[in-house]
Amino acid sequence: MTAERYVIIGNGAAANAAADLLRREDPDSPITLISDEAFPFYYRHKLSDYLAGWVEEGDLTVRSPEHYRQTKLRLRLGQRVVKVALAERTLYLAHMEKVHYTKLLLCTGGTPRIPEPLQVHREHLTCLKTLADARVFRTKLAEVDRLLLVGGDMVSVRVAARLVEAGKEVHFLVDRDSFWPLELTDERYDELVKALDKRGVKLLEGDRITDIVAGEPHCLKVTTGHGASLDCGLIGAFFGYVPNVDFLLGSGLDIERGVLVDDHLQTSDPHVYAAGDCAQVYNPDIRNYWVSIGWPNAERLGRCAASNMLGAVQQVDEPPQKALSIEGIKVCTPWWRQF
Ligand SMILES: Cc1cc2nc3c(=O)[nH]c(=O)nc-3n(C[C@H](O)[C@H](O)[C@H](O)COP(=O)(O)OP(=O)(O)OC[C@H]3O[C@@H](n4cnc5c(N)ncnc54)[C@H](O)[C@@H]3O)c2cc1C
Repeated sequence: MTAERYVIIGNGAAANAAADLLRREDPDSPITLISDEAFPFYYRHKLSDYLAGWVEEGDLTVRSPEHYRQTKLRLRLGQRVVKVALAERTLYLAHMEKVHYTKLLLCTGGTPRIPEPLQVHREHLTCLKTLADARVFRTKLAEVDRLLLVGGDMVSVRVAARLVEAGKEVHFLVDRDSFWPLELTDERYDELVKALDKRGVKLLEGDRITDIVAGEPHCLKVTTGHGASLDCGLIGAFFGYVPNVDFLLGSGLDIERGVLVDDHLQTSDPHVYAAGDCAQVYNPDIRNYWVSIGWPNAERLGRCAASNMLGAVQQVDEPPQKALSIEGIKVCTPWWRQF
């Protein structure tokens, strides 16, 4: 096998599944994973338990740094890629170090979505995507008794439940357009409302935030379109996630919502692949691209991309739909796992 220099941007489910397969099939070539997070690979779905104090940081780890040493995978944590130069097959880190690759895999996941009307209040909204976010959330929570959650994605239902169990007064301003990563049908909307109500969450339906004013420390005054006002210590925003691709704009790669890849997960550059939440994958059956989200989905795409980087010609397969009940809400999806 010709010596390759594999570089993977990311250290989540897609990146690790790909790295494992690359290492198994190619024991000698250098493989580097680069992540802008400072932590080893961890379970994102446990962040809601961490917020509420049910688990501690050590319980989140999927694999320790020792695993990477043993498998000769180079793991570079806390290093952000700011630019990819396709012609030079080089990427640039924030401190302007250059890293050369022969094959590059983008596994950069998603970033929290904040709807346009709320962008102006961004500084008052607390999101939950990374362990660093969860640390901030947990620190703020220690100071507040009442909080408001806005949005209504699948992650938020578990967060709301955990916070009520932790003794907090939780208000929820439900947004019908936020049931990430699935569509909110009328039936699911009813189930979502029922699930939140059953857990003792105070619901504000069909309303929206019109203003947020910071008062005393840990006091935000929220006004809504229906004229309600609420003092709360924290506003958690749960509007789902969008592919994390901003740093690739201008690179020459085709980008729409995510990184556009064909049904073999190759981008518009033959040396670059993408997998997981950041990829927008071509589906020949519907002749369109779509972003598919969830932990098992990221692993599956990561393995498929790695196979093709090794020279296989593997098409992304569509696993069968599975019926799940997530926090009391019925969904049918092949992508998401009920942990
Ligand atoms: C709170 C929460 C709960 C969830 N619960 C569930 C669940 O119950 N079931 C389920 O199936 N899914 C769940 N998900 C979704 C699931 O975690 C994701 O679909 C999955 O983690 C996606 O994996 P990924 O490898 O594509 O990306 P990610 O896990 O998001 O990893 C992205 C990686 O890219 C790195 N990165 C990004 N940009 C750069 C850059 N410029 N430079 C360097 N590094 C970069 C990041 O540091 C990170 O390591 C949950 C997600 C969250 C946030």
